[in-house]
Amino acid sequence: MRKILIFIFLLAPYFLLAQRDWSQIEITVTELSPGLHRLFVANAVAVVVSHGDDGVLVIDAAYEQSTDRLMEEIRKISDKPIKYLINTHLHADHTGGNKVIGKDADIIAHPSVKEFLSKEQRRGENIIPAFPDYAIPNILVDDNMDLEFNSEKIQITHLEGGHTEGDLIIYFPQANVLVMGDLLFAGYFPFVDVNNGGNPHSFLENVQRILDHFPNDVTLVGGHGPVFSHAELQTWHDELVKTFAVVAEAKSRGMSPEQMKNQRILQDWEEMGSFFITEDRWIETLYPFL
Ligand SMILES: [Zn+2]
Repeated sequence: MRKILIFIFLLAPYFLLAQRDWSQIEITVTELSPGLHRLFVANAVAVVVSHGDDGVLVIDAAYEQSTDRLMEEIRKISDKPIKYLINTHLHADHTGGNKVIGKDADIIAHPSVKEFLSKEQRRGENIIPAFPDYAIPNILVDDNMDLEFNSEKIQITHLEGGHTEGDLIIYFPQANVLVMGDLLFAGYFPFVDVNNGGNPHSFLENVQRILDHFPNDVTLVGGHGPVFSHAELQTWHDELVKTFAVVAEAKSRGMSPEQMKNQRILQDWEEMGSFFITEDRWIETLYPFL
């Protein structure tokens, strides 16, 4: 059963997008601050682009299949060389475009991303070969790093064991924009990849650290969902805390995950289950940890 669940988790983003015509995929571009844009790919995954005198820096590369459309939109913003590509973490909806977007760039990520992409990956029946060298991160951040680029001193920080073991967050101090990767599924239950070092308790702790550390007027860009304010992040965090308590309480009364699902103990959070992680999957995620 566990094997089947893992299989479903890993494949879900592909099922969701499998039927699309990738050449027609919609990309919504929003200016976050002068020189800094958010590109929302297929209404599903966010990419951030910084451009200026030094060239272009891209955060996350979205899906392999959306790369051509993504490059088209990046080139509307700037025709300068892409100097840096940052992968917030190892998942394919954030690294898939590395082979094109990162081809002539330095690729920055946590060591776990390099390790993951350097190995052959199995997705159901399919074997995905290891990425070529030029698409694998060559600048590794396992603590933190400052990067001066386009008049910003960009702060890159590793937060351990939330969504995966190697989540990076990226802060642009002048723009006051924080890119959170998949530590933010804005408005939805998050995916916690326990098979790649994620943990729901660490996930909440890391979100709390972000709430404590960054200013109240910060703009927050998650890997999925809309742009959030500090207050919205606080609300999201608090609602997740409540769901932990509901599942923990039910478990303490001896309820099984199946019973929790059948009784829909998280029905009050129905809307948060309307994206990738449903109410049922959120129960399955939390149960072993509470
Ligand atoms: Zn992810």
